[in-house]
Amino acid sequence: MIEIQRRGLLLVMSSPSGAGKTTLSKRLLASDGNITMSVSVTTRNPRPGEVDGKDYHFISHEEFGRLRDRNDLLEYAEVFGNFYGTPKRPVTEALQAGRDVLFDIDWQGTQQMAQAMEDDLVRIFILPPSAEELRLRLINRAQDSASTVAKRMAKAADEISHWPEYDYVIVNDNIDTAARQLDSILTAERLKRRRRTGLTQFVRDLTKNL
Ligand code: 5GP
Repeated sequence: MIEIQRRGLLLVMSSPSGAGKTTLSKRLLASDGNITMSVSVTTRNPRPGEVDGKDYHFISHEEFGRLRDRNDLLEYAEVFGNFYGTPKRPVTEALQAGRDVLFDIDWQGTQQMAQAMEDDLVRIFILPPSAEELRLRLINRAQDSASTVAKRMAKAADEISHWPEYDYVIVNDNIDTAARQLDSILTAERLKRRRRTGLTQFVRDLTKNL
């Protein structure tokens, strides 16, 4: 297959907790070799099963303050009383190498990224099919206390109100369909002319021999 050189892209997925974003991210990362996950730093405690350095870098408030003050974060936000942020270096390194990066960040972080690097950004919002389904998914996840579930439900409307700030919206009713839609978005975005830095040379060589 002919490979034409291109810039990497930054794929942001946002949603209220429980819309299936984590499952979709995991499937994409397992099936696509050219995209890596941005591992955020957070001051919140790990949930059961979460691995430091893989799900998040779990750090203290002091360390978070240091990273922010040194300008080592691409964006950051406070969510549910905890701080979250995206380390800058791995992202710039991946982009330069023509690799794509996947972000699970909220609307506040997405707005900051849009200001800094809009051309490289692809924003996808994931919606649950109904309020009832969202509640069920949060309860079944069983990783959070009842009061946390209530807090996340209350926050969902707030998060969802930002859907018009995204380029694509996927309603996650069926996980296989949603995963296919996500693949389609990524395929089309990778083919965009302006990302394909190798096209000029390719067409030059092509027309030389016509
Ligand atoms: P959770 O605690 O459920 O893992 O994440 C809570 C929320 O924080 C989610 O909406 C998630 O997208 C958001 N989040 C996670 N990491 C970051 C980050 O680095 N920056 C921003 N702005 N939000 C994040």
